[in-house]
Amino acid sequence: MPHVITQPCCGDASCVYACPVNCIHPTPDEPGFATAEMLYIDPDSCVDCGACVTACPVGAIVPDHRIPLGQERFTDVNAEHFADQPPSTVRFPVDALWRKPLAPIGKPQAFNGLPDPMRVAIVGSGPSAMYAADELLKHRQVQVTMFERLSEPFGLARFGVAPDHQATRSVVNLFDTIAAHPRLQILLNSPVGTDLTLDQLRAEFDAVLWAGGAPTDRRLDIPGVELPGVQSATSAVGWYNGHPDFRDAAPSLSAERAVVIGNGNVALDVARILTADPNRLADTDIAPAALAALRDSALREVVVVGRRGPEHGAFTLPELVGLADGSARVWVDPEELRGVDVAPLDNREDAEKVALLREIAARPRPAEPYLRLAFGLTPQRVLGTERVTGMRFVRTGTDEVVDLETSLVFTAIGYRGRPIPGLPFDDARGTVANVAGRVCVDQEPVPGLYVTGWIKRGPTGFIGTNKTDSAETVANLLADADTGVLPRRPALATR
Ligand SMILES: Cc1cc2nc3c(=O)[nH]c(=O)nc-3n(C[C@H](O)[C@H](O)[C@H](O)COP(=O)(O)OP(=O)(O)OC[C@H]3O[C@@H](n4cnc5c(N)ncnc54)[C@H](O)[C@@H]3O)c2cc1C
Ligand code: SF4
Ligand code: SF4
Repeated sequence: MPHVITQPCCGDASCVYACPVNCIHPTPDEPGFATAEMLYIDPDSCVDCGACVTACPVGAIVPDHRIPLGQERFTDVNAEHFADQPPSTVRFPVDALWRKPLAPIGKPQAFNGLPDPMRVAIVGSGPSAMYAADELLKHRQVQVTMFERLSEPFGLARFGVAPDHQATRSVVNLFDTIAAHPRLQILLNSPVGTDLTLDQLRAEFDAVLWAGGAPTDRRLDIPGVELPGVQSATSAVGWYNGHPDFRDAAPSLSAERAVVIGNGNVALDVARILTADPNRLADTDIAPAALAALRDSALREVVVVGRRGPEHGAFTLPELVGLADGSARVWVDPEELRGVDVAPLDNREDAEKVALLREIAARPRPAEPYLRLAFGLTPQRVLGTERVTGMRFVRTGTDEVVDLETSLVFTAIGYRGRPIPGLPFDDARGTVANVAGRVCVDQEPVPGLYVTGWIKRGPTGFIGTNKTDSAETVANLLADADTGVLPRRPALATR
């Protein structure tokens, strides 16, 4: 009976290092890791020892005879990942127990030349900041002070992840443990860049690590987007999660139809919450005002619109499985899948998504309110004069106009980092200019300045992706400290 990785997996790879037979893939040193939608257990190699279960911060791993309701399909999802791989490269027989295990990610490298004490400032307290602090604090000389602009820590792990994804949100328990470290101080309500400046931090600390995330929505550039009734998915997420910046961002739920433009995981989150049974959400930590509004909602349909065809949905396979097999009411018009050919697809997950969409399309239309997935529509303009009355699309690659009547539109076409005063900005990527986490001007490192997380690599990946990302930045920061590259801060006595 092998173990199985299920939907909440956020890709931090802790299980990889716990597994004695190396049957969890892709590992951080394999090429597919950076783009993986989740990690998978090879059922033919798993010896059922359970070591990975305790390593997982979000409870995503279960023995396959105890899979929670709605997650059963993940047995196949795990197995199929290995189906097309040559056995010699991924399968390990039971005697692989004697293989040399991968070096645990948590094992600190020895640095003998670190300043003592070494004081590091981290800006932000989201996942990338917490993983970075965890790495830094493995070295007894390091003291970390974290500056968080909000009154609560942990960034999007608290204010982004949807309230019905409680398992994923439980990663904050891990962050609570990290936060309790005696050499870590978290200063809340402490924005950097207003009263407290980056220059002040640079003068005060041996190194400054910026982990402020990439909080800005990519703007949908079409006429009418400024009309009342159009809002960003970010503002809706912030509203239902009680983010202080979005208390006044309540959408008007008197509409019968809402349209979400974009079909990534965040678009699905918003549409799922808007169509969820409020009684189910009542058991979560959704903001009370949002729950009350959802109880009074008139919505009958939330249409999630993708520009490309069903074979190129931006959502991940685990999220679609969760939608199809969980409590969500989801529907796809069978017409959307007519003529879709999966043969040319080189990505196995895309083909599996189409198979699952066909399964959903074959079901009867669910009770209202439901979430409808629509494909192949390119947004042209928001219709209306005083406020939104509809959305105009063209069928992608054609001149055929498709109008959808609606008075509520959410844009969910991705995130982008904002320039930060004092830090070089890579405008093309929307990130702080850096090489492997060292902030750089013209590829030349600026001594003592580092970045990690979404503002380092762009808004991609899952909560756990920030662990390997932060490990890279911290390794470079410590190597610089070890070799004396960091600027010397004034002696303690003179400050
Ligand atoms: C809506 C949404 C849902 C998601 N759901 C999932 C999910 O279900 N599973 C999953 O694995 N991943 C999910 N993700 C992705 C995940 O949240 C990100 O990978 C992760 O949060 C990025 O971490 P970060 O530390 O770079 O940024 P953030 O989490 O954004 O943290 C940045 C922190 O820095 C603070 N900050 C910013 N500027 C300053 C400043 N000047 N001074 C002080 N503090 C500052 C912010 O307040 C924030 O706390 C989701 C993302 C979004 C947007
Ligand atoms: S149960 Fe044991 S062998 Fe199987 S994946 Fe987990 S750690 Fe590896
Ligand atoms: S969340 Fe991390 S530990 Fe859990 S299954 Fe995913 S990669 Fe493994």
